[in-house]
Amino acid sequence: MKQLLAIALATVSLAASAQSFPGSRPISIVVPFAAGGPTDLVARQLAESMRKAMGGSANFVVENTAGAGGTIGATKVARAAPDGHTLLLFHIGMAATPALYKKIQYKPLEDFEFLGMVNEVPMTLIGKPQLPANTYRDFENYIKANAGKLNIAHAGLGSASHLCSLMWQSAVNATEAMTTIPYGGTAPAMNALLGGQVDVMCDQTTNTTQQIESGRVKAYAVTTAKPLSGHKLLKDYPTLGEMGLKGFNLTIWHGLYAPKGTPPAVTKQLNDALKLALKDPDFVKKQEALGALIVTDNRVEPAAHKAFVAAEMAKLKPVIEAARQFAD
Ligand code: ASP
Repeated sequence: MKQLLAIALATVSLAASAQSFPGSRPISIVVPFAAGGPTDLVARQLAESMRKAMGGSANFVVENTAGAGGTIGATKVARAAPDGHTLLLFHIGMAATPALYKKIQYKPLEDFEFLGMVNEVPMTLIGKPQLPANTYRDFENYIKANAGKLNIAHAGLGSASHLCSLMWQSAVNATEAMTTIPYGGTAPAMNALLGGQVDVMCDQTTNTTQQIESGRVKAYAVTTAKPLSGHKLLKDYPTLGEMGLKGFNLTIWHGLYAPKGTPPAVTKQLNDALKLALKDPDFVKKQEALGALIVTDNRVEPAAHKAFVAAEMAKLKPVIEAARQFAD
Protein backbone atom coordinates (compact mmCIF):
# COMPACT_ATOMS: atom_id res chain seq x y z
CA MET A 1 0.00 0.00 0.00
CA LYS A 2 2.75 2.37 1.09
CA GLN A 3 4.65 1.52 -2.11
CA LEU A 4 1.57 2.19 -4.28
CA LEU A 5 1.09 5.55 -2.59
CA ALA A 6 4.72 6.46 -3.23
CA ILE A 7 4.40 5.54 -6.93
CA ALA A 8 1.17 7.56 -7.20
CA LEU A 9 2.80 10.58 -5.55
CA ALA A 10 5.85 10.34 -7.80
CA THR A 11 3.60 10.18 -10.88
CA VAL A 12 1.63 13.21 -9.72
CA SER A 13 4.79 15.20 -9.06
CA LEU A 14 6.28 14.26 -12.48
CA ALA A 15 3.06 15.32 -14.20
CA ALA A 16 3.05 18.57 -12.26
CA SER A 17 6.68 19.28 -13.14
CA ALA A 18 5.91 18.57 -16.82
CA GLN A 19 3.04 21.03 -16.71
CA SER A 20 5.09 23.80 -15.15
CA PHE A 21 8.23 23.16 -17.21
CA PRO A 22 10.51 25.03 -17.48
CA GLY A 23 9.34 27.28 -14.60
CA SER A 24 11.94 29.65 -13.21
CA ARG A 25 14.76 27.09 -12.83
CA PRO A 26 17.41 27.30 -15.55
CA ILE A 27 17.87 24.60 -18.17
CA SER A 28 21.48 23.59 -18.15
CA ILE A 29 23.09 22.35 -21.36
CA VAL A 30 26.11 20.28 -20.43
CA VAL A 31 28.93 20.52 -22.97
CA PRO A 32 31.34 17.65 -22.39
CA PHE A 33 34.31 19.68 -23.67
CA ALA A 34 36.17 22.87 -22.74
CA ALA A 35 34.66 26.33 -23.10
CA GLY A 36 35.50 28.21 -26.27
CA GLY A 37 35.64 25.08 -28.46
CA PRO A 38 33.35 23.97 -31.26
CA THR A 39 30.86 21.96 -29.17
CA ASP A 40 30.65 24.83 -26.71
CA LEU A 41 30.03 27.27 -29.54
CA VAL A 42 27.16 25.20 -30.96
CA ALA A 43 25.65 24.89 -27.47
CA ARG A 44 25.82 28.62 -26.78
CA GLN A 45 24.30 29.59 -30.12
CA LEU A 46 21.64 26.90 -29.74
CA ALA A 47 20.82 27.93 -26.15
CA GLU A 48 20.12 31.47 -27.31
CA SER A 49 17.86 30.31 -30.16
CA MET A 50 16.02 27.81 -27.94
CA ARG A 51 15.46 30.54 -25.35
CA LYS A 52 13.86 32.67 -28.06
CA ALA A 53 11.86 29.65 -29.29
CA MET A 54 10.45 29.13 -25.78
CA GLY A 55 9.13 32.67 -25.73
CA GLY A 56 12.18 34.18 -24.11
CA SER A 57 11.13 33.02 -20.65
CA ALA A 58 13.33 29.94 -20.38
CA ASN A 59 16.70 30.56 -18.87
CA PHE A 60 19.43 28.43 -20.49
CA VAL A 61 22.92 28.05 -19.10
CA VAL A 62 25.85 26.25 -20.67
CA GLU A 63 27.95 24.13 -18.35
CA ASN A 64 31.34 22.76 -19.42
CA THR A 65 32.16 19.36 -17.95
CA ALA A 66 35.23 18.40 -19.94
CA GLY A 67 37.37 15.28 -19.89
CA ALA A 68 37.81 11.73 -21.19
CA GLY A 69 36.61 12.51 -24.71
CA GLY A 70 33.21 13.78 -23.54
CA THR A 71 32.34 10.73 -21.43
CA ILE A 72 32.52 12.57 -18.09
CA GLY A 73 29.89 15.13 -19.13
CA ALA A 74 27.73 12.44 -20.73
CA THR A 75 27.87 10.35 -17.54
CA LYS A 76 26.83 13.39 -15.52
CA VAL A 77 23.72 13.92 -17.67
CA ALA A 78 22.83 10.21 -17.75
CA ARG A 79 22.74 10.34 -13.94
CA ALA A 80 20.99 13.72 -13.58
CA ALA A 81 17.37 14.12 -12.48
CA PRO A 82 15.11 13.44 -15.48
CA ASP A 83 13.23 16.71 -15.23
CA GLY A 84 14.34 18.54 -18.38
CA HIS A 85 16.66 20.88 -16.49
CA THR A 86 19.88 19.04 -17.40
CA LEU A 87 20.56 18.34 -21.08
CA LEU A 88 23.57 17.08 -23.01
CA LEU A 89 24.90 18.50 -26.24
CA PHE A 90 27.24 15.86 -27.61
CA HIS A 91 28.70 15.09 -31.02
CA ILE A 92 29.77 11.97 -32.91
CA GLY A 93 31.53 10.93 -29.69
CA MET A 94 28.11 9.71 -28.53
CA ALA A 95 28.48 6.94 -31.12
CA ALA A 96 32.30 6.59 -31.11
CA THR A 97 33.12 6.31 -27.40
CA PRO A 98 31.62 2.83 -26.85
CA ALA A 99 34.10 1.47 -29.41
CA LEU A 100 37.05 3.40 -27.99
CA TYR A 101 36.63 2.85 -24.25
CA LYS A 102 36.72 -0.53 -22.58
CA LYS A 103 34.23 0.78 -20.03
CA ILE A 104 31.92 3.76 -20.05
CA GLN A 105 29.40 4.55 -17.35
CA TYR A 106 26.36 4.95 -19.63
CA LYS A 107 24.68 3.25 -22.56
CA PRO A 108 24.15 5.81 -25.35
CA LEU A 109 20.98 4.18 -26.66
CA GLU A 110 19.44 3.26 -23.31
CA ASP A 111 20.27 5.97 -20.81
CA PHE A 112 19.01 9.06 -22.67
CA GLU A 113 15.89 10.51 -24.17
CA PHE A 114 16.86 11.66 -27.65
CA LEU A 115 15.68 15.22 -28.27
CA GLY A 116 16.96 15.50 -31.82
CA MET A 117 19.85 16.14 -34.14
CA VAL A 118 21.26 19.65 -34.52
CA ASN A 119 23.78 19.88 -37.33
CA GLU A 120 26.52 18.25 -39.36
CA VAL A 121 30.04 19.64 -39.38
CA PRO A 122 33.00 18.80 -41.64
CA MET A 123 36.52 18.73 -40.24
CA THR A 124 39.81 20.15 -41.41
CA LEU A 125 43.34 18.87 -41.07
CA ILE A 126 45.40 21.80 -39.83
CA GLY A 127 48.95 22.53 -38.74
CA LYS A 128 50.78 25.17 -36.76
CA PRO A 129 51.78 28.19 -38.85
CA GLN A 130 55.49 27.41 -38.53
CA LEU A 131 55.17 24.12 -40.47
CA PRO A 132 57.05 24.48 -43.76
CA ALA A 133 54.47 22.56 -45.82
CA ASN A 134 51.87 24.56 -47.71
CA THR A 135 50.06 21.78 -49.55
CA TYR A 136 48.65 18.47 -48.35
CA ARG A 137 51.19 16.50 -50.37
CA ASP A 138 54.14 18.38 -48.81
CA PHE A 139 52.53 18.04 -45.41
CA GLU A 140 52.29 14.24 -45.68
CA ASN A 141 55.91 14.02 -46.84
CA TYR A 142 57.00 16.31 -44.01
CA ILE A 143 55.21 14.14 -41.41
CA LYS A 144 56.91 11.02 -42.70
CA ALA A 145 60.33 12.68 -42.95
CA ASN A 146 60.00 13.86 -39.34
CA ALA A 147 58.72 10.62 -37.85
CA GLY A 148 58.94 10.59 -34.07
CA LYS A 149 59.43 14.34 -33.76
CA LEU A 150 55.88 15.71 -34.13
CA ASN A 151 52.73 15.87 -31.97
CA ILE A 152 49.10 15.68 -32.87
CA ALA A 153 46.54 17.18 -30.47
CA HIS A 154 43.00 15.99 -29.80
CA ALA A 155 40.16 16.44 -27.33
CA GLY A 156 40.50 13.07 -25.57
CA LEU A 157 39.95 9.42 -26.40
CA GLY A 158 36.73 9.08 -28.38
CA SER A 159 36.45 12.75 -29.31
CA ALA A 160 35.87 13.85 -32.89
CA SER A 161 39.43 15.15 -33.23
CA HIS A 162 40.77 11.85 -31.90
CA LEU A 163 38.59 9.86 -34.28
CA CYS A 164 39.82 11.97 -37.18
CA SER A 165 43.46 11.65 -36.20
CA LEU A 166 43.12 7.87 -35.77
CA MET A 167 41.50 7.50 -39.18
CA TRP A 168 43.93 9.81 -40.94
CA GLN A 169 47.08 8.45 -39.29
CA SER A 170 46.13 4.87 -40.03
CA ALA A 171 45.22 5.77 -43.62
CA VAL A 172 48.68 7.27 -44.23
CA ASN A 173 50.51 4.77 -42.01
CA ALA A 174 51.79 7.61 -39.86
CA THR A 175 50.64 6.43 -36.44
CA GLU A 176 54.19 5.76 -35.33
CA ALA A 177 55.29 9.12 -36.69
CA MET A 178 53.47 11.32 -34.17
CA THR A 179 52.90 11.59 -30.44
CA THR A 180 49.29 12.09 -29.47
CA ILE A 181 48.48 14.81 -26.92
CA PRO A 182 44.98 14.82 -25.41
CA TYR A 183 43.28 17.99 -24.13
CA GLY A 184 39.90 18.62 -22.47
CA GLY A 185 38.57 20.07 -25.72
CA THR A 186 39.95 21.52 -28.90
CA ALA A 187 39.82 25.08 -27.53
CA PRO A 188 42.90 24.45 -25.34
CA ALA A 189 44.37 22.27 -28.12
CA MET A 190 43.96 25.16 -30.57
CA ASN A 191 45.79 27.47 -28.14
CA ALA A 192 48.65 24.99 -27.99
CA LEU A 193 48.72 24.82 -31.79
CA LEU A 194 48.70 28.62 -32.10
CA GLY A 195 51.49 28.77 -29.53
CA GLY A 196 53.49 26.19 -31.51
CA GLN A 197 53.55 23.60 -28.66
CA VAL A 198 51.76 21.07 -30.86
CA ASP A 199 52.12 20.57 -34.59
CA VAL A 200 48.92 19.13 -36.02
CA MET A 201 45.22 18.76 -35.26
CA CYS A 202 42.05 17.72 -37.06
CA ASP A 203 39.07 19.71 -35.89
CA GLN A 204 35.60 20.91 -36.75
CA THR A 205 35.32 23.79 -39.20
CA THR A 206 33.35 25.62 -36.50
CA ASN A 207 36.64 25.92 -34.61
CA THR A 208 39.07 26.26 -37.48
CA THR A 209 37.43 28.50 -40.11
CA GLN A 210 38.35 31.80 -38.48
CA GLN A 211 41.88 30.68 -37.68
CA ILE A 212 42.43 29.51 -41.27
CA GLU A 213 40.97 32.74 -42.62
CA SER A 214 43.27 34.89 -40.52
CA GLY A 215 46.28 32.76 -41.48
CA ARG A 216 46.97 31.77 -37.88
CA VAL A 217 46.95 28.06 -38.78
CA LYS A 218 47.70 26.20 -41.99
CA ALA A 219 44.94 24.06 -43.49
CA TYR A 220 45.77 21.08 -45.65
CA ALA A 221 42.56 19.21 -46.42
CA VAL A 222 38.92 18.69 -45.55
CA THR A 223 37.61 15.36 -44.27
CA THR A 224 34.36 15.15 -46.22
CA ALA A 225 33.70 12.80 -49.14
CA LYS A 226 33.00 15.75 -51.46
CA PRO A 227 34.78 19.11 -51.60
CA LEU A 228 33.04 21.93 -49.69
CA SER A 229 32.25 23.75 -52.92
CA GLY A 230 29.55 25.89 -51.29
CA HIS A 231 31.91 27.30 -48.66
CA LYS A 232 33.56 30.62 -49.41
CA LEU A 233 36.84 29.86 -47.63
CA LEU A 234 37.11 26.06 -47.68
CA LYS A 235 35.97 25.38 -51.24
CA ASP A 236 39.51 25.24 -52.58
CA TYR A 237 40.91 22.74 -50.10
CA PRO A 238 41.21 19.14 -51.33
CA THR A 239 39.38 16.26 -49.68
CA LEU A 240 41.55 13.53 -48.18
CA GLY A 241 39.94 11.17 -50.70
CA GLU A 242 41.26 13.35 -53.53
CA MET A 243 44.69 13.16 -51.90
CA GLY A 244 44.73 9.40 -52.31
CA LEU A 245 43.10 8.28 -49.05
CA LYS A 246 40.36 6.41 -50.86
CA GLY A 247 36.91 6.63 -49.34
CA PHE A 248 37.98 8.90 -46.46
CA ASN A 249 34.81 10.51 -45.17
CA LEU A 250 34.28 12.03 -41.77
CA THR A 251 31.49 14.49 -41.09
CA ILE A 252 30.62 14.91 -37.47
CA TRP A 253 27.24 15.87 -36.05
CA HIS A 254 25.70 17.19 -32.84
CA GLY A 255 22.60 16.01 -31.00
CA LEU A 256 20.68 17.05 -27.91
CA TYR A 257 19.79 14.56 -25.16
CA ALA A 258 18.00 14.41 -21.80
CA PRO A 259 18.32 11.78 -19.06
CA LYS A 260 16.20 8.66 -19.54
CA GLY A 261 12.80 9.05 -17.89
CA THR A 262 12.32 12.75 -18.66
CA PRO A 263 8.52 13.09 -19.04
CA PRO A 264 7.25 12.99 -22.65
CA ALA A 265 5.51 16.36 -22.22
CA VAL A 266 8.89 17.91 -21.36
CA THR A 267 10.83 16.17 -24.14
CA LYS A 268 8.12 17.27 -26.60
CA GLN A 269 8.48 20.88 -25.46
CA LEU A 270 12.26 20.67 -25.84
CA ASN A 271 12.05 19.02 -29.26
CA ASP A 272 9.58 21.70 -30.42
CA ALA A 273 11.97 24.40 -29.20
CA LEU A 274 14.89 22.67 -30.92
CA LYS A 275 13.00 22.53 -34.22
CA LEU A 276 12.18 26.24 -34.00
CA ALA A 277 15.74 27.10 -33.01
CA LEU A 278 17.07 25.29 -36.10
CA LYS A 279 14.92 27.58 -38.22
CA ASP A 280 16.15 30.74 -36.50
CA PRO A 281 17.83 32.66 -39.36
CA ASP A 282 20.40 34.02 -36.94
CA PHE A 283 21.45 30.53 -35.82
CA VAL A 284 21.47 29.20 -39.39
CA LYS A 285 23.57 32.11 -40.63
CA LYS A 286 26.15 31.85 -37.86
CA GLN A 287 26.48 28.09 -38.25
CA GLU A 288 26.70 28.14 -42.03
CA ALA A 289 29.41 30.79 -41.93
CA LEU A 290 31.47 28.30 -39.91
CA GLY A 291 30.89 25.46 -42.35
CA ALA A 292 28.14 23.67 -40.38
CA LEU A 293 24.98 22.39 -42.03
CA ILE A 294 21.77 22.68 -40.05
CA VAL A 295 19.66 19.55 -39.94
CA THR A 296 16.10 19.83 -41.15
CA ASP A 297 12.76 18.03 -41.20
CA ASN A 298 12.62 14.40 -40.23
CA ARG A 299 16.22 14.21 -39.04
CA VAL A 300 15.39 16.47 -36.07
CA GLU A 301 12.82 13.93 -34.83
CA PRO A 302 13.96 12.02 -31.71
CA ALA A 303 13.26 8.57 -33.19
CA ALA A 304 15.07 9.39 -36.43
CA HIS A 305 18.08 10.72 -34.50
CA LYS A 306 18.18 7.64 -32.30
CA ALA A 307 18.14 5.37 -35.36
CA PHE A 308 20.89 7.51 -36.89
CA VAL A 309 23.09 7.23 -33.77
CA ALA A 310 22.56 3.45 -33.70
CA ALA A 311 23.62 3.28 -37.36
CA GLU A 312 26.66 5.48 -36.65
CA MET A 313 27.71 3.19 -33.78
CA ALA A 314 27.53 0.18 -36.10
CA LYS A 315 29.40 2.04 -38.86
CA LEU A 316 32.16 3.44 -36.63
CA LYS A 317 32.97 0.27 -34.70
CA PRO A 318 34.87 -1.51 -37.50
CA VAL A 319 36.48 1.77 -38.64
CA ILE A 320 37.80 2.40 -35.13
CA GLU A 321 38.91 -1.19 -34.69
CA ALA A 322 40.82 -1.07 -37.97
CA ALA A 323 42.48 2.23 -37.06
CA ARG A 324 43.37 1.00 -33.59
CA GLN A 325 45.29 -1.92 -35.02
CA PHE A 326 47.83 0.68 -36.03
CA ALA A 327 47.44 2.81 -32.92
CA ASP A 328 48.05 0.13 -30.28
N1 ASP B 1 36.33 19.48 -31.24
C1 ASP B 1 36.34 18.65 -30.08
C2 ASP B 1 36.51 17.22 -30.47
O1 ASP B 1 37.47 16.96 -31.01
C3 ASP B 1 35.31 18.88 -29.09
C4 ASP B 1 35.35 20.25 -28.51
O2 ASP B 1 36.35 20.70 -28.01
O3 ASP B 1 34.32 20.87 -28.54
O4 ASP B 1 35.75 16.35 -30.21
